[in-house]
Amino acid sequence: MRYHSDMSFDWITNELQALDAAGLRRRPRVCEPLPHGRCRVDGAELVHFASNDYLGLAGHPRVIAAALDATSRYGTGGRASALVSGRTPLHAELEQAIADFEGTEAAVLFPTGFAANVGAIGSLVEVGDVVFSDRLNHASLIDGCRLSKAKLRVYSHDELGQIADELAKCRDARRRLIVTDSLFSMDGDAAPLAELVRIAERAGSMLLVDEAHATGVYGPHGRGWCEEVGVSESSCVRVGTLSKAIGSQGGFVAGSQQLCDWMRNKARTQMFSTSLTPGACGAALESLRLINAEPDRREHVRSLSRLLRAELVATGWSAIGEPDCPIVPLIVGDPNTAVQLSALLQERGFLVPAIRPPTVPRGTSRLRVSLTADHTPEDIHLLIEVLGQARSVCGGLTDSSRL
Ligand SMILES: *Cc1c(COP(=O)(O)O)cnc(C)c1O
Repeated sequence: MRYHSDMSFDWITNELQALDAAGLRRRPRVCEPLPHGRCRVDGAELVHFASNDYLGLAGHPRVIAAALDATSRYGTGGRASALVSGRTPLHAELEQAIADFEGTEAAVLFPTGFAANVGAIGSLVEVGDVVFSDRLNHASLIDGCRLSKAKLRVYSHDELGQIADELAKCRDARRRLIVTDSLFSMDGDAAPLAELVRIAERAGSMLLVDEAHATGVYGPHGRGWCEEVGVSESSCVRVGTLSKAIGSQGGFVAGSQQLCDWMRNKARTQMFSTSLTPGACGAALESLRLINAEPDRREHVRSLSRLLRAELVATGWSAIGEPDCPIVPLIVGDPNTAVQLSALLQERGFLVPAIRPPTVPRGTSRLRVSLTADHTPEDIHLLIEVLGQARSVCGGLTDSSRL
């Protein structure tokens, strides 16, 4: 069928072909989540190493029951933005529960973690201000910076000296803001938060930390990487998602009452978007209770990560990132090799996505294993075995493993 009588969209055909040729075309798949860290893809049951449900809460019976209960009480939709009428008693309860969990005065809900970053940055800086962003920051932070219209300074990954220099150069800007992932989503490594706090404080700059991958996984209470390394709640703006370890949907900003009041008045992705569904709120509330009550969930997933990394190193791979981070990247370099390897693993019963540019820098295409508390040491042993076989099939891999 031809959708457009004129040729104005023909360029898309060419661009898609170019993506194909470069090994960069993405195709959506249908993935049905199953219990015990499994999923079904194309009719085959696979070990699901592609989920950010780090604590295994998205399928937890109590979380599901809480979502159902919230839905039967308040219905399926948020109905309006929070400011108009979309903030139900459940939304208010969840904002309080997030503040309690994070140890902050207050918290504001956003439709997603992506929206939380975009809204938060846009409410903190604008024309005449400067925002400093790590080169490996998540797309939502990058887009937040761009949309804010503040002057953007991108610093090399974790280059503290460069940040301090740039901050000094922009001394005359009205406001300055440093934004960073706490755990970087594609490398599984952590930002030097204690140092960033010190640099920001010395320069009188604001600091925003995106804890998307660390919430629920790190810190004595599961608050994230800030808590893990002893960075106080008051020294930065904290952004999180309800969609990863919390197993629901949505995003949040946690901080002082005043900061949250400001977000409600200024963050456009919060003000002009419908509130979360009641079901998502109910699920998140129950997950937070489970995270508090069952610290062994985060300990389990972290111990699986240590096991996988040790076995990778023992079999000649290099394992980058924090030693116990649930994100375990296997750098292979070439995008086609990454895709080939991912397809091979799928044939042998494992869903491990290939990550390619523009998600990661050129030449660093990789497989990305995401571990969850639903996995077992046996799943890890089997993956290592199959990786060993895959490696001999994909000849080009021997070189890249030195990366
Ligand atoms: C996933 C992710 C987000 C976005 O969160 P969503 O709730 O999925 O929109 C933001 N930042 C980082 C670092 C992420 O990995």
